[in-house]
Amino acid sequence: MGHRAAAGDRGRGAAVPDETVPSLRASQVFMVLCAPALLALALAVVFVVPEVLRPGAGPVVLGAGILAQPVALLAVVRHRRTGRPQGWWSVWATGLIAVLTGSVADQAFHQTAVTALVVGPLYAAMFCSARSMLRHLALAVVVATALVVVVPGEPLVRAARVAAVDMVLVLTVAGLFVLRARLDAAVARAVAARDRADLLASRDPLTGLLNRRGLRTALAEVAVDTGEDVGAVLLDIDHFKRINDTLGHGAGDDVLVRLAAVLAATVRPGDLLARIGGEEFLVVAPGARPLEAATLAERLRAAVSADGGTPSVTVSAGVAVRGRGAPSPDVLDELYARADRMLYRAKREGRNRVCVEPSDGRGPAEVPALRQARPA
Ligand code: GH3
Ligand code: MG
Ligand code: MG
Repeated sequence: MGHRAAAGDRGRGAAVPDETVPSLRASQVFMVLCAPALLALALAVVFVVPEVLRPGAGPVVLGAGILAQPVALLAVVRHRRTGRPQGWWSVWATGLIAVLTGSVADQAFHQTAVTALVVGPLYAAMFCSARSMLRHLALAVVVATALVVVVPGEPLVRAARVAAVDMVLVLTVAGLFVLRARLDAAVARAVAARDRADLLASRDPLTGLLNRRGLRTALAEVAVDTGEDVGAVLLDIDHFKRINDTLGHGAGDDVLVRLAAVLAATVRPGDLLARIGGEEFLVVAPGARPLEAATLAERLRAAVSADGGTPSVTVSAGVAVRGRGAPSPDVLDELYARADRMLYRAKREGRNRVCVEPSDGRGPAEVPALRQARPA
């Protein structure tokens, strides 16, 4: 397509889309809710139904419930700092729930409490990697097996209890993980489709350059409202209609593509190049002061003249600069209108030339550095 990165490719689509990263807030809410829930459970057991506990286990249960609070808090703080889900949190959760469950003597209550072991791997399935999820699931299965197998009963009954608990753990966690993987994939597809649509809507399909909409977006991204100068060079092919009339529209299109490549190869890194009309191109040069903008315009004009392709074409250019600190509610529209006036003047003065407006906006001016380069 003949346009280069500096002419408007700003790495869009190269980064992993944010939407596929599990929501940090959701994982923090999960941790923040689980910890008080564990404490509430511990308090209820110790003070409401202490008879379900092993003798002397009250302080252990309370201690585990209280310890859950700083652990969750630490996990949330680290999470916010690193931006990554804290896998170790689910190991702690599994350990604390194991202590709580191990302190329960009542058989029926004990079997119910064992199901709480799903919390850790559930967290990993929702927010961590597959490997992390498998590690936490394996830990929960081992702990659940150990806690259930010691409950008195016929060997076959005990084996059935273990199988039931482990199956519930594995199916719940694996099911959630598959669901999340599918959702992640669907979101990634939607984001890629949106990026593709954005790209199409912001590019001129013939030359691949930015169109007016893309230029506006790109300009907003480079934050030109920092008070620095902004140069604009508006270029228009001279007598382009003649090419269409004599060689046909296809040849005219080829000229536009060739010219786009020449301009893209000539602009400076950081300049934004767009095709904004039929045979009109606009270069916005953030940070370019009047002389730099004028020099750039002259370089572009000369590059087009020197391009060896046939049919040969020339361009006229108008240059305007938004001066440092100048108020401008819409930089693009303002600069375009001013550069267009200079372009009109360049056409009137004979074409294949650059006409420059000084940054104070008082009218066209000669730029000494360019006098030599201009055609007679
Ligand atoms: P001037 O030097 O005054 O600019 O003369 P000009 O002939 O270049 O300007 P004019 O505005 O008279 O004609 C512009 C022509 O550009 C008319 C139009 O058919 C042609 N044009 C606009 N868009 C395209 C396009 O996408 N492809 C082709 N091949 N031609 C186009
Ligand atoms: Mg023209
Ligand atoms: Mg035109």
